[in-house]
Formats: sequence, C-alpha cells, structure tokens
Amino acid sequence: MVVTRFAPSPTGYLHIGGLRTALFSYLWAKKNNGKFVLRIEDTDKARNSEEATQAILNAFEWLGLEADGEITYQSKREDIYKKYIQQLLDEGKAYKCYMSKKELDVLREEQMANKERTKYNGKYRDFCGTPPEDVNPVIRIKAPLSGKIVVHDGVKGDIVFQAEDILDDFIIARADGSPTYNFVVAIDDALMGINEVIRGDDHLSNTPKQIVVYEALGFDIPKFYHVPMIHNAQGKKLSKRDGATDVMAYKEMGYLPQALLNFLVRLGWSHGDQEIFSMNEMKELFDPKDINKSASIYNTEKLDWLNSHYIKNTPNDELVELLTNFGLILSSHDKKEILLDALKERAKTLKELAELIHEIITAPDAYDAKAVKKAFKGNAIEVLEEFANKLDEAKELHLPSEYHHIMQEVVDNMEIGFGKIGNPLRVALLGKMSGPGLDVVMSVIGKDETILRITNAIAADL
Ligand code: GLU
Repeated sequence: MVVTRFAPSPTGYLHIGGLRTALFSYLWAKKNNGKFVLRIEDTDKARNSEEATQAILNAFEWLGLEADGEITYQSKREDIYKKYIQQLLDEGKAYKCYMSKKELDVLREEQMANKERTKYNGKYRDFCGTPPEDVNPVIRIKAPLSGKIVVHDGVKGDIVFQAEDILDDFIIARADGSPTYNFVVAIDDALMGINEVIRGDDHLSNTPKQIVVYEALGFDIPKFYHVPMIHNAQGKKLSKRDGATDVMAYKEMGYLPQALLNFLVRLGWSHGDQEIFSMNEMKELFDPKDINKSASIYNTEKLDWLNSHYIKNTPNDELVELLTNFGLILSSHDKKEILLDALKERAKTLKELAELIHEIITAPDAYDAKAVKKAFKGNAIEVLEEFANKLDEAKELHLPSEYHHIMQEVVDNMEIGFGKIGNPLRVALLGKMSGPGLDVVMSVIGKDETILRITNAIAADL
C-alpha cells in the first residue's frame, strides 16, 4: 500500500509551495487507495507555534484535504527518538563526541584556510581514552567515510552523492539530548510506514543523511520524489510579493478551493495539455513520474482564469453562501438567480463578484464625471423622463425582457438610437459606464428603485 505524508514545520502559515507538495502526496495516496498522513514537525520549540499548526489544519479543512488517521506530532515522540539513539550507541553505530565549541571553531578555521570543505574530523569516532569532564557530549552517527550514496529519485533519476564530499559524522542528538532534524525525519518516515516521500527539492541535500540513518537502523528506504521549486515570472524563487502567501489569504481574496488546487496541480505536473481537472480527475490521473524536472512558473492570470471557470460552474445557492464571506447577504433577495446568472461570468474572484453585485443593488453615491459628460448631452433628461413615465404606467415588471421592451418603445417613439437611452440610463442607475446589461440591472433592483435612481440622477442636475 502506498503511504505518503505531508510533514510541515509549524513555523508560520501554510504557503502554496507546501500546499502543492501536500496535494501531490495526497493525490498519489488516493490514486493508489493508499494513505496520506500528516506529521507536524514541531520540535523547534523556539520557532514553532500552536497557531501555526492550527493554520495548517484550517487550510486543509478549507481545501478539503483530509489526512488519514491521527496526526503525528514530533514533539510527543521524544522517547521514541531517544530509544533509537541508545540503540545506535549500543550497536557502536553512533558515539559521543566531546569536542568543545572552541575546538570545532579552530578546526573550521583551519579547514577554511586550507580551502577544504568544513567538516567534523572524526576525533571521537573511535575514541578509547578518557573524555574531558567539562563538555556535555553530542551524539554523532558513524557515516560512511567513502563510497557513494545514491538517491533513486522518481523525478530527477538517480542522484549520486560521494560520501566524502557531503557527509561527516553528523550530530543526531545535541548536548541537551534533543534529537536533530534529519534523524527524526528518517525515524518517523520509517515507523509511520511512509514508503513514498514527495517533497520540495530544497530537501534533496538532506536525503543522503536520512539514508545514512535508515541504513544504520536497518529501515527500508522509501521512494523519493523531489519536486522542483515554484518560480516567479522572472525565474526567481517565489517570494511573498509574488504570491507565496498564506494559503488562507487566497480564501480572503475570493479564490475557490477547487481553483487553487487545480492551479497547484498544474504547477510542475501535467497531463497532456489538459488544464481543468476536477478533484476526481486529479486523483485518477496524477502520477509523480509526470512531475516536471524543471521549476514551474507561478502565473496569477492562470489562477484567475481557473477561478472564473469554477465560479461560473458553481451553483447559485452555493455562491449565495460563499458570498456571505464577502459581506453580501443575498439569501432573501428575490432576484438573486438573475443577478448571479448575469454576473458570475464576469468575475474573476468571489470578492469581485460581491463587488459587482453590490454596485448594482446599492444606488450610486456619485456619478463618474467622464461618463456623465458622455451620456448627458442633447435630450438625455427628456429621454430619461419619458422612460420613467413609461415604467410608472406599466403594471408589474419582473423579467429583463419586460424592461427591455419598454426601452425599445421609448427608442421607437422618440426615434432615437439605443445609445441615447442606454448611456444616460446606465449612469443614472450605476453611476458609471460599465456593468452588466441594463435590463438585468433593472429587473434586479425593480421598477420603483429604477424610477427612484432616474429621478435622483435628474435632480442631481448632471
Ligand atoms: N518539515 C519540513 C518542512 O516543513 C519538511 C520535511 C520533509 O518533507 O521531509 O520543510
């Protein structure tokens, strides 16, 4: 059974790079009827916070990514790590190193002066003498001194590391007994049965060290997939300014979870030239062997395009619910269907949709000067008055087509072009030249409100 994991360090919010690896791991597990587990790597007490853990869980909930089974917290597993440290000491695969900070500094300086790679020199690896009394030892693992470590990577192919170039006997427990990062990651992945690790390629340099731990403890080495980073349009690592923001910020900006997930799945993975993937399709089609070998480019226009696709395809009752997050309460509006049908094609985000709707259902508090200049010339006032009178005489009006019909009558009777009524009417109703079809606007706000807005505009002496 395929078991994947997402292993965030709760040092801040969940950012989209992290979410993308979580998504890939989730999809691959689901495709194989396997398991996707969540492990919170919260051993760095100074940098971790509960709020950050909660932020990750909130983001998962919003996106509908559910982890299987209990969440594992590294902070609760210290006893397990200690047991394995002891095991390695007992088996002679790890040892206590008493080198003082000062000694290490001197060593490092010497190596730098000789233009050598800075590394531990193995002083205590086979030490038999009496250790110094005033140093609390760290524990180092015996890493191979020569030979190769090969990472069989599902994205990048085999990557060969020369032990002497990259390894030294790295520390697995600090002087205070706390275990170190690469040690606990390897133990957790092994004990949690993780057999496919999908993560960012910024972790590639950790992998040989983790392999050393797997091998020392006799654990099976998982299959690794190191996913290239997400870059901005300039080919640089994505920064906050480019959108490497809190995943929940996308919710606030009015993006739908499906759009964000669809966007992310295509950042670094492709299936032919297909762009739109439902969650079921993603689960069916995702395969890490199709992850691109080069960095992917973050493109906001693509995200907007996907979001507008998903907004268009969201049923109106769901949109009504979602728009409440943007301060728009439409549940009791009798024209909400007409409103949403007319506008959901035009909005890139829910926030924009809320704004478009708001602009229609609330009377303008100002009139755009340019629009006024263009629209209010000739007999514009007369045309508006005529239209308002006709509306007043009409019995109940509901549909956009009924309003359109009356506009047509005025145009015919007064022998004018459609723009002669359309432009001033648009400014009177919306305060500006843009917006959806006027017949839709009028049908939504109703006859009385239409007449009122026209009267107000005339009174404003534009
Ligand atoms: N905790 C690491 C991080 O947040 C990920 C570890 C891993 O995927 O192996 O970057």
